[in-house]
Amino acid sequence: MYDILIVGAGLYGAVIARRAMDAGKKVMVIDRRNHIAGNVYTEKIEGIQVHRYGAHIFHTNNKEVWNYVQRFATFNRFTNSPVANFHGELYSLPFNMYTFNKMWGVVTPEEAAAKIEEQRKAAGITEPRNLEEQAISLVGTDIYEKLIKGYTQKQWGRPCSELPAFIIRRLPVRLTFDNNYFNALYQGIPVGGYTAMVKKMLEGTEVRLGVDYLEDRESWNAQAEKVIYTGAIDEYFGYRLGYLEYRSVRFETQTLDKPNFQGNAAVNYTDSDTPWTRIIEHKWFEFGKDAQGNDLPKTVISREYSTEWKPGDEPYYPVNDDKNTALYGRYKDLASREERVLFGGRLGEYRYYDMDQVIASALNASI
Ligand code: UDP
Repeated sequence: MYDILIVGAGLYGAVIARRAMDAGKKVMVIDRRNHIAGNVYTEKIEGIQVHRYGAHIFHTNNKEVWNYVQRFATFNRFTNSPVANFHGELYSLPFNMYTFNKMWGVVTPEEAAAKIEEQRKAAGITEPRNLEEQAISLVGTDIYEKLIKGYTQKQWGRPCSELPAFIIRRLPVRLTFDNNYFNALYQGIPVGGYTAMVKKMLEGTEVRLGVDYLEDRESWNAQAEKVIYTGAIDEYFGYRLGYLEYRSVRFETQTLDKPNFQGNAAVNYTDSDTPWTRIIEHKWFEFGKDAQGNDLPKTVISREYSTEWKPGDEPYYPVNDDKNTALYGRYKDLASREERVLFGGRLGEYRYYDMDQVIASALNASI
């Protein structure tokens, strides 16, 4: 008998496992994949930690969360500054004075602000009601057309006018020369990879991999007082109210016989003609742009293609528009009636959580 059965060995599950272990509980963690760490899983290829399920850059303003993760890893001083490639024209991200200078030739913050205001006025937007209007009112039509529209439509498979505004508010807009993508006090990547960090969180816990809870839930439930379920909430209920929509991602990962492919960890392809959304060059997450990284003769890159999720695919991003939010509300009602089962994490709560938010939520859950 276990006090807690945790379904899913990703970040949410691992933090709950650690808390429960520290409180002296008997814990079992199961996952249907054959590895721990969920979508933050990293794996070493050619001496480079490869982010197998896409780029993960840890960033937070939450001191409690930052202090907590220090127990399990040393973080390097990586700062995310992606480059946008629009038909071969390169721009700095997030939207800042370097971007505005390249786009319009403006030199001062006043000139940049005036340009944005002029374009916002011309578009006639007062109260932004969707991502398109929100983007234009934040940065104007030129930046929307070149750096946001194509990328977002590829990423979400929907027109910007049908997406919630909050998605674009994740990105800072700055009238300073600052390419740091995140407005976060703390940022970095665990040295040795996320898998090692999660492994440390799970130390002492019984972990079984390649096991599907949903295929045999009665017998699993019989072995535990309480279940923490971190999989997709609609799948738990056999999709009985209908499918929640997710975006999935397909990666084409290649090892190249050159030390430096693109000179940066992330390059976003923001035009709609390029089929991939971004290319990640994994070594730059680890080493910084210094001699050490260039000393490795090879490099590993991943092209990222965004796709609509269908049953059998790995879900990555919940599509938090009105329709799905309403359907999620109905699943949440069902979930609240499941005594002994707590739903958590990006899939269990159907929320576009960042890693730090997942950890905060797991630290605050009552278990
Ligand atoms: N986005 C964009 N152009 C970019 C990068 C991001 O338009 O070059 C928009 C896009 O709508 C995306 C959102 O900003 O979905 C959030 O981007 P973020 O980098 O936070 O996404 P994640 O890293 O979680 O995939």
